[in-house]
Amino acid sequence: MFKKTTVIVCAAALSLLTAAWAAPRAELGYKACLAQHIAQRKAFTLTHPLPPSGFAGNGTAPPAEAGISAPSVPVLMYHYITPSRYNKEPRNRSIVNAEAFEEDMKYLHERGYYTASLQELEDYVHGFAALPAKTVVLTFDDGYENNVAYAYPVMKKYGFRASMFVVGANVPETNGPFDPLGRSYVSREQMESTADVFEFHSHTYDLHYKTEQHCGLVISAAADADRLAPDIRRMKAAGIDTPYFAYPFGETNYRAVYRLAEEGYRMAFTVKDGYVRPGDHPMYLRRIAVTNETDVAAVLEGAAGAGH
Ligand SMILES: [Zn+2]
Repeated sequence: MFKKTTVIVCAAALSLLTAAWAAPRAELGYKACLAQHIAQRKAFTLTHPLPPSGFAGNGTAPPAEAGISAPSVPVLMYHYITPSRYNKEPRNRSIVNAEAFEEDMKYLHERGYYTASLQELEDYVHGFAALPAKTVVLTFDDGYENNVAYAYPVMKKYGFRASMFVVGANVPETNGPFDPLGRSYVSREQMESTADVFEFHSHTYDLHYKTEQHCGLVISAAADADRLAPDIRRMKAAGIDTPYFAYPFGETNYRAVYRLAEEGYRMAFTVKDGYVRPGDHPMYLRRIAVTNETDVAAVLEGAAGAGH
């Protein structure tokens, strides 16, 4: 059955490719261009199965009681954190007021939530380890310095851990005095001084922008596997060598995933809304974007009920 389907898909891909090949490129309309692209993508998927990861667990043992494991885990996603008095864009959904953030953390602390590391989450996804029923994963995208200024002290107070996905090219060696109205990024120095709370992972070295690609479509530069390969090498050369990745704008595709896997990335996050469960594909994990309006209590309840 599987073989038959594969042959049909292959034949379809081949005929589309042949048709596209026959047509002069300049005459390709948008639809034909897209059809050709989709055919190429399918052909790549069929001819490039993901290599076995060989992942055998990180050996993490979070304090979950035997038999009681979280049915699903919410991975909360934050970006820019600033006190409301400095928030000039209250409608911008990627800016969370520091006051709201503090409330979220206080709530997690009062309810006894456990903040898992990404290693622990990886073990959980693969079924190597349980996680406490009340577990949450905290993530911050883009590497803003205000995460260090406003989120770090709150999380440190509660003994929480979090992951920050930094854009390598934006990371300076050091930062001058912090300007709450500026758009500055966490420095190497700060990465070291906040390592008791934050772990740092990849949001690409320098592909956090959108650009015109196939068929005139404007998509994330990091969704272009050809750009991704040299970018990964630059990130590693910059010393940010981690197996964990967050897709800029949440955009990805099989070729990008294949490239990441080839370069040793084992787990990656989208911005698709939802919880993480054991058995999920580790390269397409869901997250929950937190805004000023997010009802964190409801999000947590949703995770607890997700397994029933
Ligand atoms: Zn981002």
